[in-house]
Amino acid sequence: MTSIYESLGIPTIVNAKGTSTRVSGGLMEPEVAAAMREATEHCVDMATLQGRASEIIAEATGAEAGIVTSGAAAALLLGTAACITGLDPAKMNRLPDTRGMRNRVVMVRSQRNFYDHAVRAAGVEIVEVGLPDRFSGAGVRDAEAWEIAGAIDAHTACVLYVAQPHSRPALPAVAAAAHDAGIPVLVDAAAQLPPVENLRRFVAEGADLVAFSGGKAINGPQGSGILCGRRDLVAAALLQNLDLDLFIEQWRPPPSLFGNRTLPGLPHHGIGRSSKVGKEQIVALLVALQRFTSGGVEARIARCQTMLERIVAGLDSDLPARVEVAPHRVSGVPLLTVTVDRHAAGLDAFDLVLRLQDGTPSIHVDPSRVEAGAIVLDATCLRDEHPEQIAVRLNAILGAARRMRA
Ligand SMILES: *Cc1c(COP(=O)(O)O)cnc(C)c1O
Repeated sequence: MTSIYESLGIPTIVNAKGTSTRVSGGLMEPEVAAAMREATEHCVDMATLQGRASEIIAEATGAEAGIVTSGAAAALLLGTAACITGLDPAKMNRLPDTRGMRNRVVMVRSQRNFYDHAVRAAGVEIVEVGLPDRFSGAGVRDAEAWEIAGAIDAHTACVLYVAQPHSRPALPAVAAAAHDAGIPVLVDAAAQLPPVENLRRFVAEGADLVAFSGGKAINGPQGSGILCGRRDLVAAALLQNLDLDLFIEQWRPPPSLFGNRTLPGLPHHGIGRSSKVGKEQIVALLVALQRFTSGGVEARIARCQTMLERIVAGLDSDLPARVEVAPHRVSGVPLLTVTVDRHAAGLDAFDLVLRLQDGTPSIHVDPSRVEAGAIVLDATCLRDEHPEQIAVRLNAILGAARRMRA
């Protein structure tokens, strides 16, 4: 079968890395792809569509409201913009010029990462809090809630919290400190799924806005995401994302997001206009979300387990490497770890990463543990024919040194 990629002259890859953006996210299920295709066959009012999305996302997350975005990073930009402007259209029109507005975002120093670029893009400065002694090895503590409280002032737009199992302080304490000062908390939970329960967890723990990636575990379109949380903030985010080049008499605000609220005027194209999301992404994300919350995760985990076992079954028994399939500590997603015996194999784990990547087909794995001598494979984005291809390549690369000696 010739694929669309073949006709474009683009080689396809074997993605054993997972849903990372640079390796093109995951593989959509046929039902989701079919929904996306159907979405192309009619036109709709985009505000009405996002209004319905809000009801579905609210149901799945326990939040008051939600919209589909063009990714979690887009959700961070829109969420920050909403915290700066509230529902004031004059402020929306001025972004990213935030002079005279709340234009600082408080954030724990150990949570800084380059996705906060999306937050800074709204026109804010990040105020870092705490010195994470526990990472330098000089101590045991990280930032504490009282330090966050002390950093909040009249310029603070929100507190940004990056949810990871190791994030400190715990979210409920951060939310309490922020709410005492009347400031919202925006949570980056882009990759914190599965477990499915995490869809509801951060809102339940006090987040005012939460960003999820739609192209990672939810398995929606690669360029999709969710922003959910407080209704007024989500509405403010939507106003800065939609094309609002119309007269206010024509504007039919979706009741699920705006209730009876009237606006003094409509903003024009907002700061989030460059994170435009299409009807196709919205529809497909909603279908993917529905599948994700109704047993889809468990089925995918079982399929991943089988695929990794097929890789292991295809490996020669005397390879200079140790292999182990084990579930990720938090997500439960099974991972295959191959720990290379550097001397017997004549190459180290990073050489193996490069050899896999530079072969045909190109096989991408997780290199984050090469310093410990290991490569990690995730089966989430593998096609059915891939496990045996991976085993053949591992046998060839890892067995080469032994064959040379023999
Ligand atoms: C993946 C990720 C993002 C970006 O998500 P997209 O949906 O690709 O925009 C943001 N923050 C964190 C922590 C992530 O892991």
